[in-house]
Amino acid sequence: IQWEKQVRNSAQIHRSGGMSVLVTGAAGFVGTHVSLALKKRGDGVVGLDNFNNYYDPSLKRARKSLLNSHGVLVVEGDLNDGKLLAKLFDVVAFTHVMHLAAQAGVRYAMENPNSYVHSNIAGLVSLLEVCKSANPQPAIVWASSSSVYGLNDKVPFSEADRTDQPASLYAATKKAGEEITHTYNHIYGLSITGLRFFTVYGPWGRPDMAYFSFTRNILQGKPITIYRGKNRADLARDFTYIDDIVKGCLGSLDTSGKSTGTGGKKKGNAPYRIFNLGNTSPVKVPVLVNILERHLKVKAKRNIVDMPGNGDVPFTHANISHAQKEFGYKPTTDLQTGLKKFVRWYLSYYGYNNRKGLQ
Ligand code: NAD
Repeated sequence: IQWEKQVRNSAQIHRSGGMSVLVTGAAGFVGTHVSLALKKRGDGVVGLDNFNNYYDPSLKRARKSLLNSHGVLVVEGDLNDGKLLAKLFDVVAFTHVMHLAAQAGVRYAMENPNSYVHSNIAGLVSLLEVCKSANPQPAIVWASSSSVYGLNDKVPFSEADRTDQPASLYAATKKAGEEITHTYNHIYGLSITGLRFFTVYGPWGRPDMAYFSFTRNILQGKPITIYRGKNRADLARDFTYIDDIVKGCLGSLDTSGKSTGTGGKKKGNAPYRIFNLGNTSPVKVPVLVNILERHLKVKAKRNIVDMPGNGDVPFTHANISHAQKEFGYKPTTDLQTGLKKFVRWYLSYYGYNNRKGLQ
């Protein structure tokens, strides 16, 4: 009873026309920011996360405390626990699901391929099964990835471009997620929006990502490994600041329309949409390192090696005109500014603020 009350309180809507959103992966990087933004504008938010140890679980706990202090409850549980999901839907008639829980990262698939199947395939189906039977059925917005473009070398990437050459198991599970959600859309009338995020960075970010581990190593005086592609070409990424991604998530939730099924039976045509959410200005990785050095006021020890060919793609670049047209998506933070904000957070979070010469 106490638990139900906590869930209901967290899902309480505080604005007219607001939504109640189940955010999966809420203790993750993007999930934390999206949950806070929804809560701040008066929507009801309940988080779900399994707090796995893919990276430092204490960072996930800290994000959870931040969310709690803003009135967002994060329920500890796995996507594959269908009973827990059904219980949540019994307590709250969620209007929307923001599905961000996943096994991320491309290189970890070499060590633990099953975790990708567990979270990105089985976990996704478990969630869709519950959504399909919920009454009302929620509209679903979920995180796909720019990695679905794989080895496609026609840039910038547009949504209709080929996605048949995934370069990693991670990419393959995201591509499979797009097919699976499309199936639930046309069979059961679930409203589905897939967002292809392009390398998201910012405060409370993911320690396994390059900008984060580079910062850690540079501050600790350790070398950083920079990969380069074929013919010694620098890798480039369309780095996208977290606040821009959050705006894209909210914009897509607001325009996601309604599911049209009832208890697993389809009535009308529910929307199925896919959007790129990127920054449209790719930056070479060595340039990212230069910017970090300037913000940290410490020189990096560079170790430049050939890409080992285990999942990374040479470059990414988003065409964002579709999201721009549908919900006015327009990224406004350049890498220089965004990394400054990340570094400020990093120094404060890891207690570097009293060290001389770093601010
Ligand atoms: P993250 O790892 O910080 O967040 C994912 C969260 O999901 C984690 O807190 C994890 O504990 C949780 N989780 C994983 N499996 C789960 C399961 N089976 N049940 C319950 N919880 C589970 O990653 P992020 O960077 O915040 O990414 C959010 C989403 O965006 C992911 O789907 C990711 O694949 C996608 N994405 C991220 C980026 C990026 O650059 N950050 C780029 C493209 C796509």
